[in-house]
Amino acid sequence: MAQLLVKPELVIGGEHREASDGAIFEVRNPATNEILAKIPRATRDDVSAAIDGAESSFEKWSETPAPERAEVLYRVGESILREKNELAEILTLEEGKAFSESLAEVVEGYDTVMFIAAEGRRMWSYVSPSEQKEKICMVIRRPVGIIGIITPWNFPFSIPLWKIPPALMGGNTIVFKPASNTPLIAKMIVDLFERSGLPKGVLNFVTGPGHEVGEAILNNERVKMISFTGETKTGHRMAQVNSALLRKQVLELGGKNPIIVANDADLDCAIPAILYASFSNCGQKCTAGSRIIVEKGIHAKFVERFSKAVEVLRVGNGMQEGIQVGPLITEEARAKVESYVSIGKEEGATLLCGGSSYFDKERSRGHFYKPTVFDRVSNTMKIAQDEIFGPVASIIEAENMEQAIEIANDTRYGLSSAIYTRDLRSAFRSLAKIQTGIGYVNQGTTGAEIHLPFGGIKESGVGREAGEIAIENYTEKKAVFIDYSYAPRPWFFKEK
Ligand code: NDP
Repeated sequence: MAQLLVKPELVIGGEHREASDGAIFEVRNPATNEILAKIPRATRDDVSAAIDGAESSFEKWSETPAPERAEVLYRVGESILREKNELAEILTLEEGKAFSESLAEVVEGYDTVMFIAAEGRRMWSYVSPSEQKEKICMVIRRPVGIIGIITPWNFPFSIPLWKIPPALMGGNTIVFKPASNTPLIAKMIVDLFERSGLPKGVLNFVTGPGHEVGEAILNNERVKMISFTGETKTGHRMAQVNSALLRKQVLELGGKNPIIVANDADLDCAIPAILYASFSNCGQKCTAGSRIIVEKGIHAKFVERFSKAVEVLRVGNGMQEGIQVGPLITEEARAKVESYVSIGKEEGATLLCGGSSYFDKERSRGHFYKPTVFDRVSNTMKIAQDEIFGPVASIIEAENMEQAIEIANDTRYGLSSAIYTRDLRSAFRSLAKIQTGIGYVNQGTTGAEIHLPFGGIKESGVGREAGEIAIENYTEKKAVFIDYSYAPRPWFFKEK
């Protein structure tokens, strides 16, 4: 087991410790299958203690002036930049993505923290006139309470940082459970906040399986909001409990994102961008461009150039120089991709490239799979409808733009979409008609900027994160009416 810079522990009420029954689970490097660390597997009592910690620190933290809360975030941001290489290294060791991609994710985390820290002196609301004389109305923001933050493994640094900073800035306290595949980078986040002066108990950290530890957070009535990113199936489960408890939620879920390549697309721009959208992080992105809908007139040219470009992608251990695509996260994830490739063949799609694992000594230790492209895919096929969450892209030919948009919308998901065209009218028409929360023109389906809202419609989620919505999510708005007339008011009936 490598010497790690991070100590796997629970953080409960500011105390770093093991699980109360001493149970552990292993976390492995997906590129080599080596054990990276043994992680505490929290019990239900540990989760309850974490919620106690969040409860007892709530009053003081929520009364701390927002600019003072922001100081903690600024210090976190500075530390992220200073320690970006160490953070990116753990991210790659644990998640598998190429080191350069990990660095970019760390920088996105920095951007988010700094963007939210500036809210410490904003968090604007409004003052309004009243219907009555000598009275003023305003809307003030109050914290929501204890926030349960439950996150996935594919962006294990940036996704928690979309959630934790705005939750703290809103004056809330937190119980944070990261994905069981990536608890180390999550613990580094918690350590960053602690070292930056966040008071004890404000950010509690529990690790362990979703169906136990996650459920214990989800089902606890003291938790006033759930902020979740993960699979649509898990999101449905969250929504059930949240609606029974009538609590706030943000759910960021799966995607099956279309990229339309119009007849007039500039392929020199489109091909490298679509490669990145489809295969970076080994296709394990909620925004991955997994359905490439190509207009008939450019289909043959696109297929030829795209499949050649896919074949030369450099796949390997993300810690090695020049690697573009790392492994899948687990053996189960690799097996899932393999089974979808078999399904695609049975469904009659044409396999253009990839379609198998690697059998060389180095890559067969990890969960690698060849970047795979299917052509002649019909949008009704399972490979075009299910979120495979791996390095598999499907090319679907469309007669014209109208049909391309119909195909784009024929899915249960609605997260991100893209169109490559030189025709502005066509671009704007597709932006208006495609049912997704995010739309790109002449860019792939990935590459969110944190000052804009992020999220999907349909089964891709409920609500948005980042942008101006971030603070909205983590505060309650209270309408306040102040009567400064000191005059007796008659009973108040409105007439028109
Ligand atoms: P999961 O839904 O399996 O897990 C996400 C988190 O929820 C993990 O921490 C998991 O714990 C936990 N969890 C699982 N079951 C429960 C439960 N019953 N109660 C409480 N918590 C639970 O998703 P993945 O981690 O596999 O992430 C991949 C998915 O995330 C993809 O579908 C992807 O599209 C989506 N995603 C969406 C994004 C968006 O913004 N729309 C962004 C990134 C990813 P454990 O790890 O222990 O199982």
